Amino acid sequence: MEGVCLNAAENTVIATRTRNVSAQFSILSTYFAQDNQNPLDSERKFDKLAEDVAGVFLNRIQVIDENFTIVSDTYQINKGKLCISPDVNRCFNGTNQAYTDKQHKCLVLTQSIKNSDGEVEYVMFATSSIADIYDAMDSIRLIVAAVVIILTIVLLTAAIFSAYKMVKPFRKIEDTIEHIGRGGTVEAINLKGSSEIITISNSFNTMMDRINQLEDSRQEFVSNVSHELKTPITSMKVLAESLVGQEGVPEELYQEFLGDIVGELDRENNIINDLLTLVKMDRTGLEMNFTQVNINELIEAQLKLIRPLAAQKNIELVFESFRPILAEIDETKFSMCISNLVVNAIKYNNNEGWVHVSLNADATYFYVKVQDNGFGIPEKSVEHIFDRFYRVDKARDRATGGTGLGLAITKSIVVAHNGDIKLHSEVDVGSTFIMQIPLTHIS
Ligand code: ADP
Repeated sequence: MEGVCLNAAENTVIATRTRNVSAQFSILSTYFAQDNQNPLDSERKFDKLAEDVAGVFLNRIQVIDENFTIVSDTYQINKGKLCISPDVNRCFNGTNQAYTDKQHKCLVLTQSIKNSDGEVEYVMFATSSIADIYDAMDSIRLIVAAVVIILTIVLLTAAIFSAYKMVKPFRKIEDTIEHIGRGGTVEAINLKGSSEIITISNSFNTMMDRINQLEDSRQEFVSNVSHELKTPITSMKVLAESLVGQEGVPEELYQEFLGDIVGELDRENNIINDLLTLVKMDRTGLEMNFTQVNINELIEAQLKLIRPLAAQKNIELVFESFRPILAEIDETKFSMCISNLVVNAIKYNNNEGWVHVSLNADATYFYVKVQDNGFGIPEKSVEHIFDRFYRVDKARDRATGGTGLGLAITKSIVVAHNGDIKLHSEVDVGSTFIMQIPLTHIS
């Protein structure tokens, strides 16, 4: 690029020089023509005038007459010799010339000198050195090349440095990801740099927090599962060992202990079933079978199944519906929610208590409210109530035969319906669970 610019500059300077020299040369020829009255005197005058003007721009001037004889030469070398060159010939035919001879670094000019009749009498042939222009341009080229090289080195160094600076934070993220991939743990990374890098750093840390939370809850879940599965097995082992260790155990005791063992087996079975339901919900996530269902009929059917349980504790179970409601739900899974909430309201209730189930809807959602006047849930437990294996009172709640997974399953199902579940509760006053589910499913 800079080569093109320099060449253009060089051409411009040479063109200017050519114009100046041509003008000078033209004036000189006019002067010769006017002063050329006496041919005998002409040689001497040519020499004199040529010497006077040569040396400013025109280095060498030769004057050639019609016989192609050089009558004047400022170098005095060719005087008297013949000069039969195409340039001179062309000039005698009326074409003055001015061109650049790059090889000899000079301008070549021819100019005719006409007599009073307008006939070409002499031809002036001159050369003007432009070596100074070429030398100056060579020096400029050298300087420009040096500047370009220095600038390239500086820019390259700056580019390498800024590339290194830009890539460095990503290297750190890459190293961190590799470290995590090898099983290592990471707290947080603190990257410095542009706002984009800080945004990436913050997003990475948020992701890591989430991964750490998931890992914590996974570990807690595994330890809870192990504990919950071990408890019935330990009880069964104690019961069985106490029978095996004694001789002559009465049959009633056998019956009683074996009945307890069957109870523990049922418990183990319930836990495994609930776990399988949860894992299935987690893995298949939203593998739901949405159909248009009459919610009033669904609740009636569930309550019919649960009524005997309520009757055992003499609990009043009432269903109140404000309007017939049709909604797009997964019938089997949503039935499980109703069952879990209503069974809990009976389990964690006093004898002679009451459980009210109500159904209502607005333009977008339907609402199922399960209200009881049972034990209630302490405020500090409310935020954990939907956690897996969470129980308010471990000993009391295990005795009810529960697994601690019912509300976790219920919440998963409600979320899979794009719904919400809320709890209001007061100890010894009662609890109210409200499910809000969209009437139409939008995947
Ligand atoms: P569980 O199988 O133990 O019933 P859940 O997940 O269904 O498991 O319930 C978790 C815990 O929430 C129960 O152990 C109980 O302490 C509490 N709970 C649930 N429903 C009620 C309710 N209606 N009244 C009082 N406590 C409740």
